[in-house]
Amino acid sequence: MLIKLSDGREIPVESHKVRIVQKIQLIPVTERLRAIEEAGYNTFLLRTRDLFMDMLTDSGTNAMSDNQLASMMVADDAYAGSESFYKLASAVKDVFGFEYSLPAHQGRAAEHLLAKLFIKPGDAIPMNYHFTTTKVHFEFLGGTVYEIYTDEALKTESTVPFKGNLDLNKFQDLIKRYGPDKVPFVRMEATTNLIGGQPFSLQNLRDVKEIATKHGIPLFVDGSLISENAYLIKQREPGYQDKSIQEIISEIMGLADIMYLSARKSCSVRGGLIATNNKAYYDKILPWLPVYEGFSTYGGMSTKEIEAMAVGIREMTDVNVAGSSVEFVKYFAERLIAKKVPVVTPPGGLGCHVDAKRFLPHLTSFQYPAGALTAAIYLVSGIRSMERGTVSMERDKDRNEVASDLELARLAVPRRVYTMSHIEFAVDRISWLYQHRDLIKGLTFVEEPPVLRFFFGKMTAQEQWSRKLMEAFQSDFGEV
Ligand SMILES: *Cc1c(COP(=O)(O)O)cnc(C)c1O
Repeated sequence: MLIKLSDGREIPVESHKVRIVQKIQLIPVTERLRAIEEAGYNTFLLRTRDLFMDMLTDSGTNAMSDNQLASMMVADDAYAGSESFYKLASAVKDVFGFEYSLPAHQGRAAEHLLAKLFIKPGDAIPMNYHFTTTKVHFEFLGGTVYEIYTDEALKTESTVPFKGNLDLNKFQDLIKRYGPDKVPFVRMEATTNLIGGQPFSLQNLRDVKEIATKHGIPLFVDGSLISENAYLIKQREPGYQDKSIQEIISEIMGLADIMYLSARKSCSVRGGLIATNNKAYYDKILPWLPVYEGFSTYGGMSTKEIEAMAVGIREMTDVNVAGSSVEFVKYFAERLIAKKVPVVTPPGGLGCHVDAKRFLPHLTSFQYPAGALTAAIYLVSGIRSMERGTVSMERDKDRNEVASDLELARLAVPRRVYTMSHIEFAVDRISWLYQHRDLIKGLTFVEEPPVLRFFFGKMTAQEQWSRKLMEAFQSDFGEV
């Protein structure tokens, strides 16, 4: 929750207390250099025992509440008809307003089922932005993903409050070009994960729905980060300041023909879900659920996670829960901006994104500025972030490298996991790094996998920059 201090500053204060903890340690910088070298300058390949703070992702790494943990103890283990499922279905009905719930083991499993049942070769699928697994599933089935974001979406420095909006003109053009029969659905992602957790507005969602309905196209909402999008609407959209998170979620879901989500994000568990009020859609998906996931009352999830998900769905409507990560992200970004570090603005819903293009203007795209920055951040702080830049791009069909539009080091803020002093530590080390940015040089691939190279690819530091950076660090801070 936001608290105003007597000096006029507003700071995020946790609306929970810590009752179970996990030990972390900050290993010396010489060991951090060894760890990042062994990981091939790829933060995905670091081991958690070598991390101080893990800001790789918010996926499956959020803190659960006491009530979520307690609910796991009463899970009803049954192959079919589990009472745990009916608790989940009732939470989905109460909070999201959907009659029919279809559990799946993860968000991408929900995407797999929807792609299989709704997409035919030659189809076009418009969306405000893609998510990695979404795009792969939809294109695997022969569809083409069209990201029809507004011109503002890719500007890293912006004051536009809803960079997750869909461009309505481009949407209409696409329908005209393909014909509505070739557009199986339009997908709106609640806070666009890959471009900085940027929200859509309810006005935009209503407009999208109106155009879609006119052409008989259903609206699918990816609700993985729904509570964050609702919280940002409450803060930023005129007319919503006095609405509750529940009211805003209800209004969003009221427009969706199908909602699916990864429960690893806003729900703070590990699982997934498809939900709808359309009986025909439910009947179409249901028979395939046991083929790919599991019987319809567990869908590949453990009943413990189903219980905790039912509680998580209800808890996300608490404004302090919905805002827990958003307010820390905002604080984190504003503190970095105060130290002149270039970050994506306005701050969004899942993490703080440092703009590596502006941080390291002396590097070309093919020296992988975002990759070099994530490695450098780890070296000076023990903090793991994620490269979202050219390393994350696929080569084109002639096997040429493709430069990414954006070069970002994403520092995810898992919900309720880190405290203010952790954020202050991160700000201090990243701003120290910014003053020493000239020491950071590029990376060179030594092992490059054929697909999704960012997961397993290995690189080395050009001109041994990491060693020189370590020496500069040691002269200011010693070993930690
Ligand atoms: C994480 C995520 C997914 C994929 O879900 P998994 O549970 O990781 O399989 C899909 N869409 C969005 C928006 C996500 O954030």
